[in-house]
Amino acid sequence: MKRNLKSITYSLLIAALLPVAAFSQTKNSTKMTNEQTTALFPKGDKLPDSYFTGNAYLKPLLAKDKNNDFAMGSVTFEPNARTIWHTHPRGQVLIVTEGAGFYQEKGKPARAIKKGDVVNIPENVEHWHGAGATTSMTHIAITNYEGDTNVIWLTPVSQEEYSAANNK
Ligand code: MN
Repeated sequence: MKRNLKSITYSLLIAALLPVAAFSQTKNSTKMTNEQTTALFPKGDKLPDSYFTGNAYLKPLLAKDKNNDFAMGSVTFEPNARTIWHTHPRGQVLIVTEGAGFYQEKGKPARAIKKGDVVNIPENVEHWHGAGATTSMTHIAITNYEGDTNVIWLTPVSQEEYSAANNK
């Protein structure tokens, strides 16, 4: 009798806990799904190989208009993807919204950047930005115009330059 009561009690306990376990599992997997799919902005369209090495995507957010003398977009770099070397005639601001990667000015060591970092890029400074070799990165880019020009594209970041940034 005592044994039966004990076993019934255990059964009840297990029966009571099972839905909790199932619920918390559902909750966790929902949370993970959300983290994977609720990026701040859509990934957008693939950027051209001529100015980007690897897979990079742009979702335009704002075009230059009568009040704002800049363009704003969300750029997503898959691992290994980066811009080529370039300058901005009136500078650029980057706000990293996801992942981690690098920003490098010519002649200086690469700076590791990650979600939450803000980079203020001076005018006419040769630089590149992009993902890490094993990490993707998304940043908002706010790029000021001088007349109709907001970027001057230069030459690709070599594999040696990119590896040096990653191995530092
Ligand atoms: Mn730039």
